[in-house]
Amino acid sequence: MNQYAKASAPTGAVICDLRSDTVTRPDAAMRAAMAAAEVGDDVTGDDPTVARLEITLAERLGKEAGLFLPSGTQSNLVAMLSHCGRGEEVITGRGYHVFKYEAGGASVLGGIVMDPLEVAADGGLEPAAISAAVKEDDSHHPVSRLLSLENTHNGKAVSLARIERAVTAGRAAGLALHLDGARLFNAATALRRDADEVTAPFDTVSVCLSKGLGAPVGSVLLGPVEFIARARRWRKMLGGGLRQAGVLAAAGLHALEHHVTGLAADHARAEALAGILRGLGAGAVEQDSNMVFFTPDSPVNARLGAHLAKQGVLIAAGYAGPIRMVLHRDVTDEALWAVQNGLTEFYG
Ligand SMILES: *Cc1c(COP(=O)(O)O)cnc(C)c1O
Repeated sequence: MNQYAKASAPTGAVICDLRSDTVTRPDAAMRAAMAAAEVGDDVTGDDPTVARLEITLAERLGKEAGLFLPSGTQSNLVAMLSHCGRGEEVITGRGYHVFKYEAGGASVLGGIVMDPLEVAADGGLEPAAISAAVKEDDSHHPVSRLLSLENTHNGKAVSLARIERAVTAGRAAGLALHLDGARLFNAATALRRDADEVTAPFDTVSVCLSKGLGAPVGSVLLGPVEFIARARRWRKMLGGGLRQAGVLAAAGLHALEHHVTGLAADHARAEALAGILRGLGAGAVEQDSNMVFFTPDSPVNARLGAHLAKQGVLIAAGYAGPIRMVLHRDVTDEALWAVQNGLTEFYG
């Protein structure tokens, strides 16, 4: 499955965009917060709003320090470069973003080896597989250095017990622990836990502000002070040092303050959409947190995508296999009715 499958172009106004939760647009209140932001040159450490975002999220997630970055991909890349040297290894999941959807950046730019493991049905990794993947100290092998997990994975909120078992296996082998928490707050919401309980087992965490939280740009990498100092140099080297970034950080702060509680409503709408799809009896339906996966019984993907596009509903339908539909704060109940109408018409 490619979660970035191409969508059909809409022919009129877009009523509902389910391609991803990255399509959210900053609302008036967020734009006002951005316009009012105090700023400075963040490369020289002079932007008070960026500093406030980094400190706020570090405190909220129980880590020492934070670093604002332009994207989640750069945040994960900087994390892996800061954890691992050339010829050192990241153990992760075959379907996890750091392995599958970041263009192999850690290997291309850092000479870092990736050992991808099968991801279990619940989105976690098997502790025994982690232990078996750790290489012994032998000149034939790369040096196993980091275990990188993901939560949520394909919408699945991996349970704390499950994470704990994987982390224990990693720690026993002396690995550092990184969490790709692009949708950390969706995970915490789905697990009914505080976000810092989800991040507690990890040395470092990457969080996206530009997905369900609704900010236009930005991720934050959290970890120990000396780690974040190294990460700051890598960010500069990769071209991620931004100047008056406080206008962006203000959007992130606004999102953290006002948009986290709304994630539960996105999850409820995802459940409602799953119910609608199940009612059609036209394929397999899976739903976790803000994501719905619909696998049509017959390969109608492209036709369904084109039909919905005519109704102003965008999905990334691809040509076959599961269709991912993602709920987010710009999908209203009215928008969901447009989806229901479009689906009923197609299958009616
Ligand atoms: C989106 C995503 C990223 C990367 O974020 P970008 O801002 O798109 O670069 C990393 N990990 C996961 C799990 C994601 O879903």
